[in-house]
Amino acid sequence: MFENASDRLPPPMEIRDLQASMAHLYMERDQTRGRDATFRWLTEEIGELAKAMRTGDRANLEHEFGDVLAWLASLANVEGVDLEGAVARYADACPRCGEAPCACPPA
Ligand SMILES: [Zn+2]
Repeated sequence: MFENASDRLPPPMEIRDLQASMAHLYMERDQTRGRDATFRWLTEEIGELAKAMRTGDRANLEHEFGDVLAWLASLANVEGVDLEGAVARYADACPRCGEAPCACPPA
């Protein structure tokens, strides 16, 4: 299903590990930059992801997904939000309808 990344990258990382790693690497800078500027960085990275989706360059697409996730983790660190806890409601079923796969009517 997911060709590529898993073939080349290190072993899987828990979301909490990613967030802890981002805190270890960047917390001081992230806190100095602050929540608003960190949020702006995240939105810029999302824009770069949108561009990568248009180019068809698979390596660049993966790179930008990584940047978006990393900046999301940085922002969560600045805001004091535990991402793993925040996303836990999606772990087993759709948090809305309780089904897996989701059985909600299309939006
Ligand atoms: Zn659903």
